[in-house]
Amino acid sequence: MKNQTAFLTAPKKIEIDDTKMPAMGIGDVLIEVKQVGICGSDLGFFVDPTSGGRREAAYPIVLGHECAGVVIETGKAVQDIRPGDLVAVEPGVPCGHCEYCRSGRYNLCPDVDFLAAPPFRKGALQRYIAHPGDFVHKLPEGMTALDGAMLEPFSIGVHAIKRSRVMLGDTVVITGAGCIGLMCLMACKAAGAARIIVSDIYDNRLKMAKELGATDVVNSSRMPVEKEVLRMTDGRGADHVLEAAGVPAAMDAALAAVKRGGNIAVVGLNHTPTPFDFYEAARKECDLIHVWRYANIYPIAMKTVIAGKADPKSVVTSMFRFEEVQTAFEDSLNKKQEIMKAAIAFDK
Ligand SMILES: [Zn+2]
Ligand SMILES: [Zn+2]
Repeated sequence: MKNQTAFLTAPKKIEIDDTKMPAMGIGDVLIEVKQVGICGSDLGFFVDPTSGGRREAAYPIVLGHECAGVVIETGKAVQDIRPGDLVAVEPGVPCGHCEYCRSGRYNLCPDVDFLAAPPFRKGALQRYIAHPGDFVHKLPEGMTALDGAMLEPFSIGVHAIKRSRVMLGDTVVITGAGCIGLMCLMACKAAGAARIIVSDIYDNRLKMAKELGATDVVNSSRMPVEKEVLRMTDGRGADHVLEAAGVPAAMDAALAAVKRGGNIAVVGLNHTPTPFDFYEAARKECDLIHVWRYANIYPIAMKTVIAGKADPKSVVTSMFRFEEVQTAFEDSLNKKQEIMKAAIAFDK
C-alpha cells in the first residue's frame, strides 16, 4: 500500500506527494480515508498557519480534521473496532491522565493532539491515517462516510447547546450562519427549541438556514439583528444567543438580543480582543459561556443523526476529489456566496 498526503507547503499552496504508510501503535487503527470536510479553521491555516498570532507553525502542514473512512487494520490492543468498519474519526486525542481527562472534560486537556491544529503533528488530508481506536466511532448501517465526517462540526453544535442548556420551547438567536452556525441550528432544532432566529450577512447562507429549520432569518448587513430579535420577542429578548460568527461586532448584538437572565454562548472563534459591556451584562445577569470543541459528544451526535433529528451533511454544497484539493481550498475561500461547505472525496 502506498500513501499520498496533501501538504500545505506555503501560504495558499497545497501539493500532493507520495508518502510512507503511517506508523501504527498497538492501540491504533489504520484507516483508508473516504471523506474529509474543509473547515473554516483549515481555510484560516491555508492562508496563514499562524493566524490568531498565538501559534508557531512550520511548513509543510497537513490540513483536514473532519474525517471518516474504512478501517484496514487494527493494533492488537484495539477492541470493538474491526477491519472493514466504517468509522468517524474524532480528531482530538487527549493525554488520558490529567485532571481534565480524568474528569471527562478532555477537550480541555493541555496535551490534546488535534488533527490539523497547532502544533500540526498530523492531518486527515491523506489516503491513509493511523488513529487511536478509542477515538474512532463505528458508524452504523445507513450512515455514509460523509455523515461520519460531518459529525465533527455537528459535535460542536451539540456541545454548544448542551453547555447553554437549550430546552424545549426556547427562543434561540444564532449569529452567523456559516458551517458552525448551521450545526448549532440543527442541534437547537433537535433539542426542541421553538423559535430559532439566525443572522448572517450572506443571503445564500440564510436561505440554507431557513431550509434547515430556522423560524426567522435576518440579514444583519441590512438590519441590526438585535433590533429584529427585540421586535419578534415583544422586547423581551432571546433565552439563548449562540454566537457563531466569530467577529467582534457580534458580541454587542448578542448582548442586546439576550433576555434578562439568559445566556450567550461564544461558539465562533474570535481572535481579536473585543470590548464587551460588562455593566449591561451584569444588569441583565446573563451568563457568558464558552465552547471549546467538545468532549463525549460524538455518540450523542451520531444517535441524533441516526434518529433522523439532524442531517449535518446537508451543509456540504461542493464535493471535490482528493486531486482537486488546491481548487477545493481556493474555491472555498473565494466563492463564499456559492460554497457553503466543501468536502474532499477519496476514490478507491
Ligand atoms: Zn472543523
Ligand atoms: Zn489530559
